[in-house]
Amino acid sequence: MIRRPSKPDLPPPPELPSYRFEPDPAPGGVAARDVASVVDRHAGTKLSRHDAPLDEELIDSDAAKVVRRLERAGYQAYLVGGCVRDLLLDGRPKDFDVATSARPDDVRALFRNCRIIGRRFRLAHVLFGGGKIVEVATFRRNPGEADLDEDLLIRSDNVFGEAHEDALRRDFTINALFYDLDRRQVLDWCGGMPDIQRRAIRTIGEPTVRFREDPVRILRAIKFAARLDLGIDPIVYDAMVASRLELARAARPRLFEEILRLMRAGGAHRSMWLMWEVGAMAVLMPELAAFLDDEEATADGSLRFFRKMDAIDRKTIEEGVLDDIVLMTALFYEPLEECMYGVRDAIGAINDFLEPIIERIAMPRRIADGVRRIMTMVPRIVQGRVGRFARTDLFLPALDVAEIVVRSRGENPQAIEALRREAMPTLPRESHRRSLPYTRQRGARR
Ligand code: ATP
Ligand code: MG
Repeated sequence: MIRRPSKPDLPPPPELPSYRFEPDPAPGGVAARDVASVVDRHAGTKLSRHDAPLDEELIDSDAAKVVRRLERAGYQAYLVGGCVRDLLLDGRPKDFDVATSARPDDVRALFRNCRIIGRRFRLAHVLFGGGKIVEVATFRRNPGEADLDEDLLIRSDNVFGEAHEDALRRDFTINALFYDLDRRQVLDWCGGMPDIQRRAIRTIGEPTVRFREDPVRILRAIKFAARLDLGIDPIVYDAMVASRLELARAARPRLFEEILRLMRAGGAHRSMWLMWEVGAMAVLMPELAAFLDDEEATADGSLRFFRKMDAIDRKTIEEGVLDDIVLMTALFYEPLEECMYGVRDAIGAINDFLEPIIERIAMPRRIADGVRRIMTMVPRIVQGRVGRFARTDLFLPALDVAEIVVRSRGENPQAIEALRREAMPTLPRESHRRSLPYTRQRGARR
């Protein structure tokens, strides 16, 4: 049984459960075919099965139902990806994904409450009460050479495959573990279990190749390091730095979503520090990187910036996920304030600043408009001059940003809290908050 630490913020590495290698395959037969093809791809890699009884209480009962019904119907079905990783690291998964040998239409035939999503790669969503969705994906394998463009960027990955192939196409070893509910075993084709124990982020295969295939993985590595307090393997880290320019080629809406994810989970401070250090920030948000680099001109600007990130993390941990507009305003607050300083046309200055960012990371206009309006409101709110702003729909998000600004200066946010209490009867507190911590991104992976 895996030991659960009492302090959730700094968990000790879990004990590595006992494991054994699969016996060498007998010639012929399904097992032989599976293992042989894995060996072909990754010489020396074999399936290891780890007896790792995960805490049943933390496994979502609906996801378990989905797995068991698929298994009873004769398909292979496992819990996969983030949920297995989080359970092994003593975390609480935010959602549960299932991988199966069943095709999407087979899944739909088994579940009434199921819809198929995605045009290029079809996934089954099994719907439960309270808006819960269990995502069921058919095993896929890495695309063949025909699906890679000349720069190795994956254009499509919609080829069905076997379980071990599905493990190998994933990004990091800790994300490629499968959990067999009935046998209470973790299936590991990629060395993910030792990496869980070492609390290390390692790519499956050559990191520079994996980052070139999909540069968003650079941001994902940063996200997992920051959120789960993991180390990045030095070779992987070097490859992130070396591949950072590839980020300019990634699908822009995915970049924007991933930057938000970096900031949503209570790890904004560490994420932005890593973004800066790796050089990903200089590629995606050069305006911000230049501001942080120029310590002399900004007089401790980087300190003020990271204090804001810290204030975001505290607020997130205390109150839940912050609004996207709040996160984006706080992210660019320092350089925006600088560009507004002493100019007559503040709105024009903000527009000029935001326009290239809107282009580069596909920041939606709705969010850019919100950032612009809040930037003009916050200085007045901080000075206690609220006026007509109190009646606008952005007042509560603006109060959140003002609170972050005040906290980052080490000042007491009491006045802001009083304004919020006053505004509450007219505007419900939750009106600007997401009801779910994360929304599922449909088919946006690549
Ligand atoms: P989170 O807790 O943030 O949801 P996650 O690991 O579950 O993290 P998802 O984006 O939900 O991330 O993806 C689910 C799984 O799909 C991952 O665990 C990983 O195995 C695989 N995956 C996701 N994105 C990629 C990618 N860019 N390249 C390869 N595999 C990926
Ligand atoms: Mg997930």
